[in-house]
Amino acid sequence: MPASSVYVLPPPATPCVAIAGSKQFFPVRRIYCVGRNYAEHAREMGADPTREPPFFFMKPGDAVVGDGARLAYPGQTRDLHYEAELVVAISGSGENLSAEQAKALVFGYAVGLDMTRRDLQAQLKKGGKPWDMAKGFDRSAPCGAIEPAARIGHPATGRIQLQQNGVVKQDADIGDLTWAVPELLANLSTFVRLEPGDLVFTGTPAGVGPCVPGDRLRATVDGVGEVSVEIVER
Ligand code: MN
Repeated sequence: MPASSVYVLPPPATPCVAIAGSKQFFPVRRIYCVGRNYAEHAREMGADPTREPPFFFMKPGDAVVGDGARLAYPGQTRDLHYEAELVVAISGSGENLSAEQAKALVFGYAVGLDMTRRDLQAQLKKGGKPWDMAKGFDRSAPCGAIEPAARIGHPATGRIQLQQNGVVKQDADIGDLTWAVPELLANLSTFVRLEPGDLVFTGTPAGVGPCVPGDRLRATVDGVGEVSVEIVER
């Protein structure tokens, strides 16, 4: 890495996520996301949940925002959706990993929201076009504080919920993930080398839906944590 004085611009700030019970932060490199990883959600999106290997898409690292963020309703959509998800934070490096090896790279777990321009996503899908602008827009990846695995272990079950203005909209269990975290990471590591700073959003259960300015969204995973955001006018 050259000295900062050689850059023509100040280097961009490193995006980061809080660590629960700590003053330290987790620096974010890449954000990987998994599509349709709960059977009931696959069905509500019109897909067959039984025959599909995991598939991945990405958000930019700097799409991450922390707990309590205010999200301006983005342009280019009239159907902004919430998706509550378990998030995995990676602190090791490796590719072509076994599930057991992949699990050893996990630093900790958090709760995130995979914010989605659903109408644009449907339009892009229909045209066979990339999803990027439906998923990877600014502030599209709220993520609560990370609980280190050293403290909470590797949760395989636990209730995952999303409340919109106090009303439960998504209610499932992370034990219902079609691809559990170790297998998911192992599969991802056959496409890309996992590196410290990577976040993996593991997919959302059934019950996704629209939100509007003024809404308060709160996602929780029992034993892991939570994230709350407010949707505001652009
Ligand atoms: Mn998602």
